[in-house]
Order: sequence, then structure tokens, then C-alpha cells
Amino acid sequence: MIPPGSGFPTDNASASTPVAVTAADVERLAAGAPSLAEVSGRSSVCRACPRLVTWREEVAETKRASFATETYWGRPVTGWGATRPKVLVLGLAPAAHGGNRTGRIFTGDRSGDWLFAALHRAGLATQPTSTTAYDGQELLHTRISLPVRCAPPANKPTPSERDACAPWLVAELRYVLPTVRAIVVLGAFGWGATLTCLRKLGVPMPVKAPAFGHGVELELPGLTVLGCFHVSQQNTFTGRLTEQMLDDVFRRATDLAGLA
Ligand code: SF4
Repeated sequence: MIPPGSGFPTDNASASTPVAVTAADVERLAAGAPSLAEVSGRSSVCRACPRLVTWREEVAETKRASFATETYWGRPVTGWGATRPKVLVLGLAPAAHGGNRTGRIFTGDRSGDWLFAALHRAGLATQPTSTTAYDGQELLHTRISLPVRCAPPANKPTPSERDACAPWLVAELRYVLPTVRAIVVLGAFGWGATLTCLRKLGVPMPVKAPAFGHGVELELPGLTVLGCFHVSQQNTFTGRLTEQMLDDVFRRATDLAGLA
């Protein structure tokens, strides 16, 4: 595990960053974070979900054989990219040997390969791959974040873990939402979590919001939420999500954001 204040490119924490150890701590520390960087810093040292803390650190210790020589991040993974984004991409949670290893969301795994290739084709990323936090990749007018910041076993956070983590995303959205015109949500879990966070921020929402689906759009004042199948191998290997489908969603997002 990489300790806070390590100088790692995605590390916004220091030895004095307050550490949340309960869901109530998350509520308080997220609501009181005085800047976007502080939201990232505080969330990156969070220990509020015992099961996820144990899992992320165990994975970082045991490692996958092919990454045996690497030091895993082993901490919560935070939002990353533009601080005044026009497009926001929201996933689910870091992958055990992807973001939990590299410290950057959608970096160093197959899902990230798909996502960054599409972002690059859409003109939203400077490189078609995202391999390490040191790879020089930059997001253009775009930010990527996630509703659950620790890698969960079997990629399945519990409802209480989802709820415990929500204040971090709410706090992040409070800072970035004013410039966002399109939110691309990858998967049903992220869809539900995103709408909950938007409600908490007071964004006017229809009484009956549409259920998640690929290509579903929810138009809200000043921004549109777009549903997209998750870039997981389950979807990309089976052809449920194709490059064309992903490109269509990002074309729509760049149109809405005035970036086309
Ligand atoms: S999932 Fe979120 S709330 Fe839970 S320990 Fe990780 S960062 Fe904290």
C-alpha cells in the first residue's frame, strides 16, 4: 500500500489529512471539505467500510502474479481529470488489480483499455491507453469518478457500502457540476447512485426517473445524464457493448457539451 503523502501523482493526501473511520465521519468530512483537492485527499485515506478496507489491502499485499514486483496503491481511488469538466464519466468502483493497483480509476485493466480508446477517439483524452498514473495521459474537458472508491470483492459493493461512500461523490459533484453538461454513467449501479447524489444536491428530478438502459437519456436543467453499458469484460467480450455503441454515446456527450 502506498502511504499518504507519497508523492504519487494521484495522491492528494498528507499525514495530516483527516481519516474517516465511520459512515458518519464520511458525511462530516465530505461536507466540510474546503476544496475539490481536499475531497480527493480525504476520500483517498478513508477507512469507513471494514470489509472493503480489508479486501483492498489484502489484494495489495497478495497481488496478482503478473504484478508481483509492483507496489499496489491499496487505498480508495478518487475522481480524476479536469477540475471544471464539461463531460463527467461515472463508473462503479476500482478494479482490484486495476485502479486498486495503479491508484487511478480505469487505469491498468481491460475496462480502462476500452474506455480510454473511446475517450481518445472522441477527443476527450490525449492518449488511447491508460496504463499507469505516470503515463502522461490527460483528460480533456472531462473528469472520471466513481460512486464507490474502494475495490469490492467480486466487483459488488453492498448497499450500505454504496451509501457510506455517497457523500464523497456528492462533495465532488458540488465542486464540478456547475460546468458539466453531460454525465455518462457506465452501468445500472452507477445510474442509481448518480441520480441519488444529484437529488441530494437539489438538482430537480422527475418524480419517476427513467430506469437505466444503454442509450437512455435523462434531461435535467443544464445537463443530460446518459446511460451506457459498463465497459466491463462481461459486456465487451460478449459483444453486448461494441466500440460503435460506446462511440455513439461519447459523440452524443460531446455534442451536448458543445465540444463536437
Ligand atoms: S468505499 Fe468509500 S466510504 Fe467505504 S472505505 Fe472506501 S472510500 Fe470510504
